[in-house]
Amino acid sequence: MSVSQLAKSIKASPTLKLNETAAKLREKGEPVIHLGGGEPKSKAPLDAVLNCATQLNTGEVRYAPADGLPALKKAILRYTEEYYGQALAPQNVIVSSGAKQSIMTLLYAILEPKDEVVYPAPYWVSYPEIAKLAGGVGVAVLPEDGSFQPSVPDVADKVGSYTKAVILNSPNNPSGVMYSRDFVAEIVEFCEKRSLWLIMDDLYNRLVFDGLKAPNPYDFAKDKGPSSKLVVVQGVSKMYAMTGFRIGWALGNREVVEAMANIQGHQTSGPVTVSQWAAVGALSGVQTSIESLRLTLENQRNLMLERLQAIPGVHVTKPNGTFYCFPDFTAYMKDSQKLAELLLERVRVVTVPGKEFGMEGHLRLSYCGTVKEIMDGVERIKWALDPQAPNELYLGGRKLVRDWA
Ligand code: PMP
Repeated sequence: MSVSQLAKSIKASPTLKLNETAAKLREKGEPVIHLGGGEPKSKAPLDAVLNCATQLNTGEVRYAPADGLPALKKAILRYTEEYYGQALAPQNVIVSSGAKQSIMTLLYAILEPKDEVVYPAPYWVSYPEIAKLAGGVGVAVLPEDGSFQPSVPDVADKVGSYTKAVILNSPNNPSGVMYSRDFVAEIVEFCEKRSLWLIMDDLYNRLVFDGLKAPNPYDFAKDKGPSSKLVVVQGVSKMYAMTGFRIGWALGNREVVEAMANIQGHQTSGPVTVSQWAAVGALSGVQTSIESLRLTLENQRNLMLERLQAIPGVHVTKPNGTFYCFPDFTAYMKDSQKLAELLLERVRVVTVPGKEFGMEGHLRLSYCGTVKEIMDGVERIKWALDPQAPNELYLGGRKLVRDWA
């Protein structure tokens, strides 16, 4: 079978592939610990479930408008006003089948062939592939100082005549690092001056630790009118633990939102109606689940950091948010793909290779599972790598003996 050049250029989503690998091994009875996951384990808020069930029970589940149900847009506008202090109109909102589709539709709407989209590394695995699908080119910015905090000169260095947009994801998947207020303020100013689109992928901005608050890009925008090129992307997946509902949204100027709606109308039509009602329930109902998830994740972040720091030679930057960290394993192995394969093969721990996020030598480890998974998972990694670790380890009732140096 011959597939297109475009299809050949698109890699499978490594994180979705790892979910499948972990599920298959578990089915075979293997004692797998999945530290590669990208979704909280808590339940969807009750208000979301009830609202969804009520709609489902009517048995009448029809097409929704391509840009989302008016009731959900209303709930999103209320949330935006409350959380971002920004009063927008329904024409500034498009609801999509996940934040992923919002980003994709947006890039379809703004890119000419070969236009470039710039984003700091480490970056979310899908940015380069989405840029390609939309006919553009993804350009990663590696922070000059080796940290996970980009600077405006680093970004400016990669901006050229083909650059159309900058994407920021903070707090960041995979590093968990939140970009500083100064950086966000400067990049908003930079994009306005250079007439670039600025896409703020804010999916994790409520899951922030240590009393910090994610900088609000609207605070720094001078242009908030009809020609503003600031687009904020949000969704229910992470903050409400509603990944499977597939509801995200973008906030932008009317012209771009209308273009996105036209594209989405031919792509998938409006997002799943009952999922949209679930999102209305989540946004309009009791909000305690966000804080309880945030607190759980903060405790789990502390635990994972403590355990990782006990592995000699492993360096880990403290995450300010999300449910990921991105430790540097270069002391053991530079090739992150090989390291991830080795950990899966030897100790049945699933991790995501740093290479997928544009940074070799690192692994992305998630702390959204259980406390036991975090403790046992890191213990197994330590055992596999640290030559000082005891020679034997019991794994799912099997005795493993170190037979490597
Ligand atoms: N942006 C980032 C940074 C993400 O990590 C994810 C999900 N892993 C998405 C967007 C897409 O989220 P959704 O489930 O809403 O499509």
